[in-house]
Amino acid sequence: MLLIECPWCGPREETEFSCGGEAHIVRPPSPDTLADEEWGEYLFMRKNPRGAHLEQWVHAHGCRRWFNVRRDTVTYKITAVYKVGGSVPRQ
Ligand SMILES: [Zn+2]
Repeated sequence: MLLIECPWCGPREETEFSCGGEAHIVRPPSPDTLADEEWGEYLFMRKNPRGAHLEQWVHAHGCRRWFNVRRDTVTYKITAVYKVGGSVPRQ
C-alpha cells in the first residue's frame, strides 16, 4: 500500500486519495483566440514520462484539499509533496 503525505493531515493510505493528473497545467488567458488544435492541445495533451512526474492529487476521503506531488512513474515512489501555488521542491 502506497502511503501519501497529505500536507494538512499527514501520511494516509493511497485509497483516501484521487489523482487529478499532471500538475501545473495553466489555462490559456484568451481561449477565444486559440485555434482548435491549440485548444485541443490544452485540454487533452499531457506528459507521460518514464520517471519523475509532477501530479496533482486530492485527499478525497479526508480534508478534500488539492496538493501536488512529484512521483516516479516507474517505482511509484513519491519524492516531494507541496501545496498548490508552492514552488516545486528540489530533488
Ligand atoms: Zn488531507
